[in-house]
Amino acid sequence: HQDLTQYAGPFISHKLKVAVMTSGGDSQGMNAGVRSVVRVALSRGLEPYLIYEGYKGLLCGGEMIKKVEWDDVSGFLTSGGTFIKTARCQEFREIEGRRKAVLNLVRLGITSLIIIGGDGSLTGADMLRAEWKEHINTLKETGSITEAQAIYNKNLMIVGMVGSIDNDLASTDMTIGASSALARICESVDALQSTATSHSRAFVVEVMGRHCGWLALNAAICTGADYLFIPEDPPTTNEWQKKMCSSLENSRSVGKNTSLILVAEGAIDSNLNPIRCEDVKGVIEKHLGYDTRVTILGHVQRGGKPTFYDRYLATLQGAEAVEAVIQATPESPSLVIGILENKITTQPLQDAIKLTTQVADEIQRKNFSMALKLRATTFINQLKAYKETANYFPQGCKRLSGEKKLNIGIVHVGKPAGGINLATQGIVRMCINRGHTPLVVYNSFAGLIRGEIEVATWMMVDTWAVHGGSMLGMNSIPIGKDVGAISYQLQRHNIQSLIVIGGSEAYTGLNELYKKRDEYPALCIPMILIPASIANTVPGTDYCLGTDTAANVIVNACDDIKQSASAHRKRVFLIEVQGERCGFLATMGALAGGATYVYVPEDTIDLEKIKNDTKRLRDIYAAEKGDSKGRIVISDQNASNVYNLDVLNSLYTGESQEDFDVQTVKLGSLQQGGTPSSMDRVHAAILSVSALGFIEESSWNSTCGSENGVNKLPEYSQQRYRQMVYTTSSSSAAVIGIVGSEIVISSFEYLKNSSNLANQNRKDEWWYFAKNLVEVLSIEATVKEKP
Ligand code: ATP
Repeated sequence: HQDLTQYAGPFISHKLKVAVMTSGGDSQGMNAGVRSVVRVALSRGLEPYLIYEGYKGLLCGGEMIKKVEWDDVSGFLTSGGTFIKTARCQEFREIEGRRKAVLNLVRLGITSLIIIGGDGSLTGADMLRAEWKEHINTLKETGSITEAQAIYNKNLMIVGMVGSIDNDLASTDMTIGASSALARICESVDALQSTATSHSRAFVVEVMGRHCGWLALNAAICTGADYLFIPEDPPTTNEWQKKMCSSLENSRSVGKNTSLILVAEGAIDSNLNPIRCEDVKGVIEKHLGYDTRVTILGHVQRGGKPTFYDRYLATLQGAEAVEAVIQATPESPSLVIGILENKITTQPLQDAIKLTTQVADEIQRKNFSMALKLRATTFINQLKAYKETANYFPQGCKRLSGEKKLNIGIVHVGKPAGGINLATQGIVRMCINRGHTPLVVYNSFAGLIRGEIEVATWMMVDTWAVHGGSMLGMNSIPIGKDVGAISYQLQRHNIQSLIVIGGSEAYTGLNELYKKRDEYPALCIPMILIPASIANTVPGTDYCLGTDTAANVIVNACDDIKQSASAHRKRVFLIEVQGERCGFLATMGALAGGATYVYVPEDTIDLEKIKNDTKRLRDIYAAEKGDSKGRIVISDQNASNVYNLDVLNSLYTGESQEDFDVQTVKLGSLQQGGTPSSMDRVHAAILSVSALGFIEESSWNSTCGSENGVNKLPEYSQQRYRQMVYTTSSSSAAVIGIVGSEIVISSFEYLKNSSNLANQNRKDEWWYFAKNLVEVLSIEATVKEKP
């Protein structure tokens, strides 16, 4: 106790003090989380503190716990790792160690603690909270703290944010760092594929994930891995060797000359024996004789810049954590901030930890189906998507009987977006495995009109996962008066259902075909749209394929442009991004790229606003004196009909009064291209599987037994259409989307009143609220004393 008394200090503050720390293994996005907590706390009039090196710093106190100002977290958004460092701390596991932590917090008058870390760190925090009163009493009795301090600090509020690359906390769909780690894995494995092809090699790659196969599973989807080992879905002890070899042989039998096997760090067989990369390599070499190499990706996965998604997630969760601290009462339990169905959630920390432990327990009990059930629904969808599309089944355990086989047309329409090719690959592969005939259409509806149609093969789409753009070619040429020609081609090629991948042009086109069913019987087939548009303008979905890739392009560009702007000191870059008439992409880019302002079509831009914005910038630059930073402002290309980029440039330049200079950048088509992001690839795979499921169900439920529709046809075509798919049901023409974390199919009929594509006004959309945070995080507000 004597040791502890040296930390006892005077009661120093009446303000709500909140400390933030990072703990456990680092993950990309932790810095963004710290920045968000600090800046939102400052803007809410709280007094934020940083604790360095996790629990170690909390125990040491002194210089390890520092009051923090606005500029101290400058540059945090864009960097991986954690600037405030992290450490494992054995001493914190002991009660005496935790008492030291309590003393340091009381000494500084800190009553709330926000921890960004894994389940271990959060368990430790909850323990600290549970013992808090006991520690306070002991410290008071031993004279380490005063009566006043004991009263002021009688409660401690704990809020956790899950920072973990493994995505292993149950009760949240994503953890901070998982998306970036997945991106690193994909970059590395994509790079391995080219050398594997040159040497016709097999590569066995180990990825992180001690108890959770999320990283390995999603990486397998993204990179088209031939085989996968994860702890939640272990193969049978004595059978996996044979199954794996036959699966790899099947892939080679259709022309592949490489094999890729992903192994999660914690992979096991059904008897809980670990499966290591070396075991896998041994089996391949012995039974198949392939030249096989092992690559352990290791800490590369933790490194590098955070992706758009991790910045976005950490930023929103940081803001929510501060709100939770403000709202807390002495009765509030410790909380954890998560994300479920695309909504930031606040849940009791103990529930989340209990659920996570339960998954590990079920695996230990070999109750793997339960372990899977306890993971988020998205995990199960991802596993299904992988299993349906990864392997080639020549005789087809999944083969359908003759009358169930379909001719399925696949068309890309509109502008390129990341993930379109992977979605096509998934559909083609599933079609082949199930016995359908995949008919790919080149060059959008225009190509369909001209009959540019071909049967796709397994090898044709083999490397499509990593390609941006559209391998089939796509354009926005409207159908116009050519519905008849389309109908003719569909009939000529006996296309019995249609999958279109694209944005608002695809939506409009498919809707037109649906509406013309009365006139053209060949259009009475199931049709589904997989939304792909960087502008995110398709109704019936929260996300379109391509938005994540485009947002990553924007944040990477913002990082580089900001660097250039900062080198010039007082420079403001006006960056124009694409987005049709929807401010989604601009908002996401601004939030994750650290823009000062964002201009979107949903808001009104006028002279007064621009005058205010430039005046604030002048004030900021004046306050910064010589040590100025560069800044960026993001504008949607359609933010205003009048105040376009050129006009904004002139007004900003005029209003800057030479306190700063102005440059412009148009990101343009850059946002549509590039390698698709890992998140877009995963979404593409999931949607492709569900889209085909919809097509099958709708087709099989159509002609068979639905004599009504057929009988309405002219007599000459009745016999023909009895053999074919024929449906007039409104539910058979639909959009498949991701709403929250659910896959939702909405018919065109249902969507017809919910959207006005020509004039998007999405102020009620889920993403719009995030816009308010842009300015909160980029401009220091006057800190107001709380009453
Ligand atoms: P990762 O997912 O990267 O492993 P983690 O937060 O789970 O992150 P741990 O090493 O388990 O990492 O925990 C980090 C620190 O949290 C430990 O060094 C220890 O100080 C504290 N901690 C972990 N578990 C407990 C516990 N049961 N009781 C008290 N403190 C704990």
